[in-house]
Amino acid sequence: MWQNMKNGFRRFMQGRYGGDQLSRAQLIAGLVCYLLALISRVTLFSYIGLALYFWALFRMFSRNVEKRGEENRKYLALTGNAKTSFRQAKVRAQNSKQYKYFRCPKCHSYLKLPRGVGEVTVTCGKCKNQFRKKA
Ligand SMILES: [Zn+2]
Repeated sequence: MWQNMKNGFRRFMQGRYGGDQLSRAQLIAGLVCYLLALISRVTLFSYIGLALYFWALFRMFSRNVEKRGEENRKYLALTGNAKTSFRQAKVRAQNSKQYKYFRCPKCHSYLKLPRGVGEVTVTCGKCKNQFRKKA
């Protein structure tokens, strides 16, 4: 009986996408919305939670594997960037006594100079833009 169900499920899932990091995030976000609805008694949250669950299920059972994979890649790139910039902001805050942080006027990437170095010519490591800066 159990074996039959397992086989049936496997047959059902054949050629379908299955779960990924994005569907896991959707399920967690859906659960959070549901809990918010319970705590705040705002029913809108439970609808959002339900929508997130349906969306996650839709993606897991989808046969368009390529499209779903693309969505997951985008999600990973987005969260990866957010994690990296959060980590960098933390490092900047920790080192702000030693270094003066500023952005390149051309490409806006972060640069730093040791404090008390005086006015120097800075070359951006990313776009090779040169400019004067006091630190
Ligand atoms: Zn630059």
